[in-house]
Amino acid sequence: MIVDFYSLKLGANGLVPAIVQDADTLQVLMLGYMNEAALTKTQETGLVTFHSRSRDTLWTKGETSGNTLSLVGLDVDCDADTLLIKARPAGPTCHEGTVSCFGAEGASGVGFLSYLETLIEGRKDADPSSSYTAKLLQGPLVKAAQKVGEEGVETALAAVAETDQDFLNEAADLLYHLLVVTRAKDLSLNQILEVLMSRHS
Ligand code: AMP
Ligand code: ZN
Ligand code: ZN
Ligand code: ZN
Repeated sequence: MIVDFYSLKLGANGLVPAIVQDADTLQVLMLGYMNEAALTKTQETGLVTFHSRSRDTLWTKGETSGNTLSLVGLDVDCDADTLLIKARPAGPTCHEGTVSCFGAEGASGVGFLSYLETLIEGRKDADPSSSYTAKLLQGPLVKAAQKVGEEGVETALAAVAETDQDFLNEAADLLYHLLVVTRAKDLSLNQILEVLMSRHS
């Protein structure tokens, strides 16, 4: 959505806090503050820009480090005093070198699937003799597709005839191979999720 700064409830300092979230993994990356100039610049350039309270200047994230945040979407919370910015980071968002300013860990939970998808995509031009994923991606599509079938059957069998841990292992194999085939076809996890969401209305 497009946000008009003057529709927002400003804090005592005339600024609005802006939470930045990775648009793909949904991981919370950082918190910054925006004034009107920062919000306008963010929406005009597509690069997330804050008002730096310590330096009292307009600050485009990544202007010196190169670790920019490309704007994907903007939302306002229920009482219009906080912005939620969905962005794609070009590198680690925290100036201390971590993906997020909140904790050193990367994406977890369902967001890990998105991280794994990016990792798989990167194997498209890796050496197939040292990477199973590269071998699957660079080999015939039918081989990778067959693996989805196999792991699907193994998951089904494990659900009824094996331990919970066996089931979890097979389900993990299935999700991994499903991601590989999806990337091999140049399709994305988000496109699968869009189908699921479109059924939910
Ligand atoms: P950058 O915008 O990444 O080029 O970094 C410029 C300066 O902004 C850094 O030297 C830090 O002082 C500060 N900075 C960068 N990233 C963050 C962040 N995620 N949170 C707070 N300050 C930051
Ligand atoms: Zn609020
Ligand atoms: Zn930080
Ligand atoms: Zn298996």
